[in-house]
Amino acid sequence: MVILISQSSKKSEIKDIEKILKKSNLNFVFQKAGKKSVFIVSQDICKSDIEKIRKMNKVEKVVENEKKLFLSSNQFGKKRGYLQIGDWKWQTNDFLLIAGPCAIEDEESLDNITKNVKKLGVKILRGGSFKPRTSPYSFQGLGEIGLKIHRKVCDRYGLFMISEVLDRSDLPLVSEYADIIQIGSRNMQNFPLLKAAGKINKPVLLKRNFGSTIEEFLLASEYILSEGNEKVVLCERGVRGFDPAGKNVFDPASLQKLKETTWLPVIVDPSHSAGDSRYVGTIAKSALVSGADGLMIEVHHEPRKALSDANQALKIKEFEKLVKDLNKIGEVVGKRIG
Ligand code: PEP
Ligand code: MN
Repeated sequence: MVILISQSSKKSEIKDIEKILKKSNLNFVFQKAGKKSVFIVSQDICKSDIEKIRKMNKVEKVVENEKKLFLSSNQFGKKRGYLQIGDWKWQTNDFLLIAGPCAIEDEESLDNITKNVKKLGVKILRGGSFKPRTSPYSFQGLGEIGLKIHRKVCDRYGLFMISEVLDRSDLPLVSEYADIIQIGSRNMQNFPLLKAAGKINKPVLLKRNFGSTIEEFLLASEYILSEGNEKVVLCERGVRGFDPAGKNVFDPASLQKLKETTWLPVIVDPSHSAGDSRYVGTIAKSALVSGADGLMIEVHHEPRKALSDANQALKIKEFEKLVKDLNKIGEVVGKRIG
């Protein structure tokens, strides 16, 4: 059970609630949650106590049977709304397009990719400068040099910049350049990093770990939310299945479940799910019809030469064709693409 208390409550009012809980020998935690405070009670409370608490002046809401999810849950009455990214308002019927290479490689190639994706309605340019590679011998990203190139090209074309942070110590540096901070699949449960991301005033894109449940995913988002940063965007990118024929399985029903559970915007990354450019479009289109709020797609002007994830990057022409298809579907499902 969760008891949500308004910001203006006094110490004595909080003590009164504590007294009731202690009298019944209940285990509880009291904590600040964003701008409010909450008591999280892990056992059942008798009905008369619940009623007593509910009637107290500063108690905004009492949610019973809420096992774990709190700040990310739409049970708390938080409404899906717009998200401010820089000077742009991302409204609920905007289907956001994030595109770009897997990694920032050099200015010339990034410029080439950017001028093409910009024409197709892309708002945010992706590209890692700190890359989480499975092998330590693979290209690890350009670090700050990459961030500088990324920022420069974003400014040249008027696009927002998203970049991944691998380590808490790099967060200040990446925040200096990027408009949106990406926390990748491998770091979904890096709690110190999540907490630090909760203290910055920038949107954070949190990707689902390939071996985590929806509940674990949402609880990870609550590490950011509970530090006061409400600008969280979730990114579904599939989970590991048993069949090597696919890479990370994307389940449209899970996406629907996620959207039913949380008020946070949810986008899909079909590139890291498919792992193969031939299947990216199929996943991207099904994400749109399944209610996703946007896509993050890897695009490269010469995928074969890409320094990372060469197999899954779309060529510019392929991306163009996909965006055309998305626009047609968008008309039917009432989403504005880009
Ligand atoms: C990425 O987006 O570049 C990436 C590494 O993705 P993920 O964390 O989903 O593997
Ligand atoms: Mn990649």
